[in-house]
Amino acid sequence: MGSEYFYMIFSLVIVSAVLSVTFFMAWKNFGREAHALTWSVAFLAGMLQWLCVLNAGRFPSMEAYLLTESAFSLSLVILGLRGHCQRTDCTFLPRNLWPYVLPVYLVVAWHTVADPHIGIRMAMVPAFAAVTLLLSAYMILKHREDTRPAEWAVVAALVVFSIIEIVAASLAFMQGATGDAAIAAVHMHFNFLTLPACYVAISMLVILMMASDISAKLKKMAVQDQLTGLLNRRGFEENGSRAFAAARRAGTPMSIIMTDIDRFKFINDKYGHAVGDTALIHFAQLVSESRRAEDVVARVGGEEFAVLLPGTGLREAMAIADQLCAKIGSTPLDTTAVGLPMTSSFGVAAISENDKSLNDIVLRADRALYRSKRAGRNQVDLESSQLMRREDGTLVPVALG
Ligand code: GH3
Ligand code: MG
Ligand code: MG
Repeated sequence: MGSEYFYMIFSLVIVSAVLSVTFFMAWKNFGREAHALTWSVAFLAGMLQWLCVLNAGRFPSMEAYLLTESAFSLSLVILGLRGHCQRTDCTFLPRNLWPYVLPVYLVVAWHTVADPHIGIRMAMVPAFAAVTLLLSAYMILKHREDTRPAEWAVVAALVVFSIIEIVAASLAFMQGATGDAAIAAVHMHFNFLTLPACYVAISMLVILMMASDISAKLKKMAVQDQLTGLLNRRGFEENGSRAFAAARRAGTPMSIIMTDIDRFKFINDKYGHAVGDTALIHFAQLVSESRRAEDVVARVGGEEFAVLLPGTGLREAMAIADQLCAKIGSTPLDTTAVGLPMTSSFGVAAISENDKSLNDIVLRADRALYRSKRAGRNQVDLESSQLMRREDGTLVPVALG
């Protein structure tokens, strides 16, 4: 083995080992995500592959060396893909990918032992790798509606790497059944020029992508209520303020429904805090289940929820609140043998000319909600300069009321 060749392979062993340890540390420290561990094992397979190359002369036969080396390099490829499947919760590939790699390995083995063909044997792994790299890129793009910059970077690197693998597979295949010294030299130089850089670049970007996963998770947690999964007060204020500004700009209507569960303290006192929590989850489901994508539903306090309805006027919002009030009253929580009845009080308000911020309309809806409470609970009231509610429930303009 030439000394440049030795140094190149040796550095690939070290780089693979470092990457394996790095992904292992990422697994340990970044919330034990399965894909980090899979990628750690993938680079371990990569390290073993390069160790085989470094020790090719120690194998009992050339075939034994080639079969072992191919097994490790295919393991690296398939585990790389498996990691992306795990991270993106991919549904179009099965959990067990090994049966897919077996035919590739059998072709390699066939053209190593039974019907030796240097071109096919050497082209199979890079060709298969090109396909898995493109599949991984596709998974990342399909995973989220808003692909983040770090994800775009990984996608770009995967596509570039897959093009490199296609060139490598073509150069390998061009060597034909018995090999071609000139093409083999070009192939080797091409691999050494591209492989270490691709290895390092992709791994760095993947680690950056994992860091951006954590930052996205933390950001989401900061605006999410952990019990119900709805937005919390902070999330409501962020999303609501955006919706308020958009409604102001476009001059479109917008309404808010505030609701507070009636005598919730009694539920906690009688059935315990755990049932209280289940009741909150049940309530959150009822409030959010028939909402549109643009509506903002949030748990803004202990047992107080807000529903912001962009593009919805006061009359329509009142009708929605009435429906919710009836639905909650008629859908008891199913935790006790008899079912635990629940009711809630509602306050509704719509955006008006003088509103300066989201808070102005929230305050009006809150005042309406507390009027509902004072009036006996399990009902809807509104606070508006334009409409008022009659005893019989009909809405009439304030001036005529
Ligand atoms: P009202 O009809 O006037 O709204 O009466 P209420 O009992 O619902 O109102 P109050 O404000 O007196 O009680 C609210 C209760 O909600 C008190 C608090 O312990 C409970 N609570 C707040 N957050 C949680 C929670 O996360 N889980 C549970 N189980 N209870 C909670
Ligand atoms: Mg309450
Ligand atoms: Mg309350």
